[in-house]
Amino acid sequence: MELSAVPDLPEIRPGDDLAALIADRATLEPGDVLTVASTVVSKAEDRGVDLEAFPAGPRAREIASRLEELTGERKDPRFAQAVLEESTDLVMDEPFLLTETRFGHVCVNAGIDRSNVPDHDLLLLPKRPSESAERIHQGLAAHGIEDVPVIVTDTCGRPFRHGQRGVALGWAGMPASRDWRGERDRDGRELGVTVQSVVDELASAANLVTGEGADGTPAVVVSDWAFGDLEGSNELFRDLEGDFVRQALREWSYDPA
Ligand code: GDP
Ligand code: MN
Ligand code: MN
Repeated sequence: MELSAVPDLPEIRPGDDLAALIADRATLEPGDVLTVASTVVSKAEDRGVDLEAFPAGPRAREIASRLEELTGERKDPRFAQAVLEESTDLVMDEPFLLTETRFGHVCVNAGIDRSNVPDHDLLLLPKRPSESAERIHQGLAAHGIEDVPVIVTDTCGRPFRHGQRGVALGWAGMPASRDWRGERDRDGRELGVTVQSVVDELASAANLVTGEGADGTPAVVVSDWAFGDLEGSNELFRDLEGDFVRQALREWSYDPA
């Protein structure tokens, strides 16, 4: 497997055609995978916003003042309002906001970034990252680059572990997971539960190349790699019914309502 940054991408602006910019700069063979950082997808999709677009309602004001008390840091109620508007569920509301975004991904502050955002206070995640991935996938095909799956990534913390890593927010042209269930291990025992989240693993590997700073390598080509013959599955985000950790949190956490 080989990972290489797509060189010389410019500062991305609203309306930019990411597929065209990448097609001009990358060598992509059928079967390669392209990862694209959500930051540049959001910039292209005009998801930069200013705090003044989120006048805080009572709930956002209450959340912000409680977080301010808890953390001793200044919290802008308009930021809490933006997080609430980007979310369908508040999984934890202290000591930080852990929410489910409208497309099903659970993360801190609905994934809203305040770094790498020129011209605006905030950058929201793409509205529907799998649709963004599909558009880039189709855009590449329009440039004669066929059969290149696309993964839209973000850098994200995970519960129980220090540090952040790359995760997949959306994908197109490949399944999310390899289903090993029914395969045999080295001792001939049947695997009962292993579904390997391939898009997250590729996102994580690619995030090593993109980095987090000012170096500017938001797109990565994964080559010499194959999904293989296993069955694919397209499920990545657990829903509440199948998520026992989240159910436990729900019973435990403080509900301001
Ligand atoms: P996220 O992980 O999706 O939140 O994206 P990051 O903000 O961590 O950015 C990933 C990489 O893309 C970093 O190396 C940034 O320097 C780079 N980056 C961010 N915005 C741009 C841009 O508009 N153009 C280019 N060329 N690089 C960018
Ligand atoms: Mn981000
Ligand atoms: Mn990042």
